[in-house]
Amino acid sequence: MNVFGSATMTFIDPLDPVSLELPVDSMRSMAFAAVARVLDHLGRVGEQHAAGLSAADLAPMHAAPPEEPTPLESFLDDFFDEWVPRALTTNGPGYLAYIPGGGVFPAAIADLLSNTTNRFTGAGFAAPPLVALEANVLEWFRDGMLFPETTRGVFTTGGSMANFNAILCARERHLGAEIRRGVLYTSTQAHHSVKKSARLAGIMGDRVRAIAVDETFRLRPDLLVHAIAEDRKAGLLPFAVVSNAGTTNTGAVDPLDAIADVARDEAIWHHVDGAYGAFFHLCPELRSLLSGLSRADSVTLDPHKGLFLPYGTGALLVRDGRALRAVHSESAEYFPERGDEYDPSQYGPDLSRGFPGLRVWLTVHTFGMKRIRAAIADKRALACSAAARIAALPGIVMLAPPQLSLFAFYLEGPSLEEENRMTRALLERVAERGRVYLTGCSTGGRFLARVCVMSFRTRQASMDACVEDVAEAARIARATR
Ligand SMILES: *Cc1c(COP(=O)(O)O)cnc(C)c1O
Repeated sequence: MNVFGSATMTFIDPLDPVSLELPVDSMRSMAFAAVARVLDHLGRVGEQHAAGLSAADLAPMHAAPPEEPTPLESFLDDFFDEWVPRALTTNGPGYLAYIPGGGVFPAAIADLLSNTTNRFTGAGFAAPPLVALEANVLEWFRDGMLFPETTRGVFTTGGSMANFNAILCARERHLGAEIRRGVLYTSTQAHHSVKKSARLAGIMGDRVRAIAVDETFRLRPDLLVHAIAEDRKAGLLPFAVVSNAGTTNTGAVDPLDAIADVARDEAIWHHVDGAYGAFFHLCPELRSLLSGLSRADSVTLDPHKGLFLPYGTGALLVRDGRALRAVHSESAEYFPERGDEYDPSQYGPDLSRGFPGLRVWLTVHTFGMKRIRAAIADKRALACSAAARIAALPGIVMLAPPQLSLFAFYLEGPSLEEENRMTRALLERVAERGRVYLTGCSTGGRFLARVCVMSFRTRQASMDACVEDVAEAARIARATR
């Protein structure tokens, strides 16, 4: 129980049976009660089990909605004590699984502000300064990626929807109504959202080519050229290549410059999936790791990964903004004529929507870009030093050293099967220990343990714990094989 309310407070006005307005004092109590729990949670964020607790003991949830008001406190108890701990601990410092994000606090305040003022940001005329603010944030991204002034972009719910919108642009520009003959190229390491996005855009699986990669998991441009030639010979229409600025499997950055050359020579669209890696481009000293990114026709950015925001914030930039407008522009009888000013619903599929730009805007204004760039660079530095220490452990094969802030390795054994088993056992043991959480991936029949450093909360102490726990788990896996 806290000082702001009683266990039974329900906040509503009992005298007005239809009102959904809350008295000011009720709103204050409600906000304070929630914030008190949030701060308590964040104060102990590092004490959570890094993998999260099992949800197996939870009863299925099929309750009918209550007819009468119920107290906030009992919900907050369930939320923070029962449900959140039984989810992956994605906001913890030891979360090195998948692609971490973290969820910076100013973005949560931004959501409170935008949800309570509830201004309509789908069209410029409805909230001119707020839409201008969002367009301004997209200009920051544009400049960070070294894209030209012709660029337009749109905030999406995530990287998947950004990839989808990019493929739509490419399809519309290069295929028009000739959709069925269109062929899209990506690497065997592409995120599954690429194939899914293609399908959503009407490009079926038999028209998506997964080009093989080299021993560093980078797409081979020579094989791309070959595949395009084969498809042209068969009467098909190559129209787009989706390359990776950091794959989810091993963090590989495709040869973006060479792929840009192929795309130019073949007159096809080059989309860079930078959901994991594009924000490293904000750091001038790291730009060479993503060399060629700034030549792409479009790039997916995922602020809820590389900019540490809470889930629900992705973005797409399109070099020739007219291509994005061409797929989304519509007029309506119930709307004023719309001019040339930036307008999210003319550049994306949503009309009514949240206000994702404010999340980024307030985060950047809270910290300043200098500190944000330093945090991004720090994640790479942490990954590089931990990878060097893990590579030096007995029996470890560092198959994919960090290209950005992700590395992947396996335990050496007498056979591939045995290596896969030992590497899985290593991951399980590390997860059980609960200080850090790593996940794996399979590529070409080999199972790899992977470490991705991308949460703003991950600092040296978590990486030390990671190295220690991997060392211990590797020792045990080798002793018991
Ligand atoms: C995470 C990821 C995506 C998908 O992004 P969401 O925000 O999860 O929709 C796409 N591509 C890559 C490389 C990713 O890491």
